[in-house]
Amino acid sequence: MRVVLMGPPGAGKGTQAKRLVERFGMAHLSSGDILRAERAAGTELGEKLKSYMDAGELVPDEIVVEIMAGAVAKQDPQKGLLLDGFPRTIIQAEALDEQLDRLGLPLEAVLIIEADESLLVERITGRRSCPSCGRVYHVKNIPPAKEDICDACGVKLIQREDDTETVVRQRLTAYRSQTEPVIEYYAAGGRKMIKLDGAEPLEEVAEQAAEALGLSG
Ligand code: ADP
Ligand code: AMP
Repeated sequence: MRVVLMGPPGAGKGTQAKRLVERFGMAHLSSGDILRAERAAGTELGEKLKSYMDAGELVPDEIVVEIMAGAVAKQDPQKGLLLDGFPRTIIQAEALDEQLDRLGLPLEAVLIIEADESLLVERITGRRSCPSCGRVYHVKNIPPAKEDICDACGVKLIQREDDTETVVRQRLTAYRSQTEPVIEYYAAGGRKMIKLDGAEPLEEVAEQAAEALGLSG
């Protein structure tokens, strides 16, 4: 199954992607994680990404398209692909369609997790992430067993630099102006569109996602 996971920052894309991948074993490509890994590697490109990401702006299409095309090419799309946070502009969506069409393996569904702005701000400002395994927690909703320590690897959790209220508001502006039109692009293209309520408890969202995608097990 080849699926694009969309929704505003904080809706629960990464959380749900991890669930789906653990259960169904498709490859998970998060553009945010891939861009953060590039930054952590301290490359020249990583430096360039920093200014956009820390300001809550989208990284330019030519950079993201090249990085993500490389990441997609390394996967076996026949085994299933869950794209999280990419595409975020119509130019990116067109580039992805071209790449998957060339492989004869087009997208099969678009999963959109929706949530109100006030909930998103609360989710994002309470998010804590493991710098080692990437696992995501929330200080109130999904706390680790031991405060600020990752359950899986015992490492101290961090708060992402762009997870402040000011930057979140900028990221939401970018989402509304540049990413929401991608939803219309897919709908106009006759894709299977699945909308889920991200305010629901995470197990329920996970169940609804699996059911709507026709996955079981
Ligand atoms: P996204 O990838 O869409 O930016 P995340 O999956 O990182 O969002 O989730 C944002 C924050 O909200 C995290 O702190 C996560 O633990 C928490 N969260 C995700 N889904 C739910 C949910 N259904 N209920 C409560 N908290 C959630
Ligand atoms: P995320 O981890 O999805 O919240 O993304 C964090 C930041 O990475 C975003 O605010 C953007 O600066 C950048 N980013 C991630 N994915 C994309 C994308 N598809 N296009 C442009 N910028 C992106």
